[in-house]
Amino acid sequence: MSPIRLIERASWSRSFCINSLGLAIFCSAAIAQDFEIPKINEYFPSSKLRVKQTKLTQAKFPAVDVHTHFGFKLKLDQDALGAYVELMDRQNIAISVSLDSKLGNEEKHLTFLKPHAERFLSFAHIDFMGSGPPETPVKWACNQPGFVRLTCEQLKTAKSKGICGLKFFKTFGLTVKKPDGSLYAIDDPKWFPIWETCGELGLPVIIHTADPIAFFDPIGPQNERFEELLRHPDWSFHGDQFPSREALLSARNNVIRKFSTTKFIGAHVANSSEDLAAAASWLDEFPNLTVEIASRISELGRQPFSAKAFIEKYPTRILFGTDGPWPEVRLGYYWRFLETNDEYFPYSEKEPQPQGFWNIYGVALSDDVLKKIYFQNAFNVIPGLRTAYQNVINQTTQTP
Ligand SMILES: [Zn+2]
Repeated sequence: MSPIRLIERASWSRSFCINSLGLAIFCSAAIAQDFEIPKINEYFPSSKLRVKQTKLTQAKFPAVDVHTHFGFKLKLDQDALGAYVELMDRQNIAISVSLDSKLGNEEKHLTFLKPHAERFLSFAHIDFMGSGPPETPVKWACNQPGFVRLTCEQLKTAKSKGICGLKFFKTFGLTVKKPDGSLYAIDDPKWFPIWETCGELGLPVIIHTADPIAFFDPIGPQNERFEELLRHPDWSFHGDQFPSREALLSARNNVIRKFSTTKFIGAHVANSSEDLAAAASWLDEFPNLTVEIASRISELGRQPFSAKAFIEKYPTRILFGTDGPWPEVRLGYYWRFLETNDEYFPYSEKEPQPQGFWNIYGVALSDDVLKKIYFQNAFNVIPGLRTAYQNVINQTTQTP
């Protein structure tokens, strides 16, 4: 490369200097710059901090992962399922709760899990669209006569087949539509019998409402999830065609308030991991609400003082979840976040970090709190879990 080209490349950083002979020479940093300025998704500097690195290869106590997707992610691959069970053994995960059974057709997912049935519980979800074309809401299952009544009957049948809860995806509130194409509100009275039936049957409802705050802001350089939204523009809910994040969460809270004998699990820290004061106010108001931490150590771990205070204030109201199955490396970050006071470590095996360009810090919870989060709290919410867990523990030498 010619000196002129080097000067051109170096000038943007002003990092050249003059030697004693008056000739332009380049500081070593400038000479090394034989590259283009990286794109945002190519920039992932490695930290030079020399701080404690705790390598955890399994949870300290046998854990229950209350938020997993073995249907959507493994696509009926039995080999992958078997390999994950071996991973659960290595990582000390006793039970995984898969949220991927379809209400009314639970057999398909339960049959998939059956070779390892003792290690899995399953929630079901409602297929609102059915076989109706996406662009024709009037033909969707949820807009056919008797849909809610049928759903309530299916819940009873599902429970008898071993389904132990109901899952709502974020589509509920954001894309589930009325015949005229407008969105159903989460607190629409049409759905009341479903919440009520779940309460009567003792089936908890895990509900994913709204999404990270940044997903409701414009996609642009000031958005803290800019890179992620460039990869997934469909995850942006900015604009008049969507309800505001506040409206969605408020409608969800109306349901939790009204159906006080139904147990609700707020997925992803009730989608308020950036605003733990709000999540705390909901836990204060709603005794029937617990929250789980799946895919949110990225948020909790960047505010370790607030996160630790939050968890220690509500030690009986927080459940362990991952949104997995994930690679083993990522699970290690969950243990490290919960169990150590390590500083500035990744939350994901991906480069760059996929949920915001930052690293996280551990909150070093006590054994007492860890046991509550890893398994004890979930016993109080998910029917059949305590027995299933105890059966797994009895097969191993682990003592919770
Ligand atoms: Zn999920």
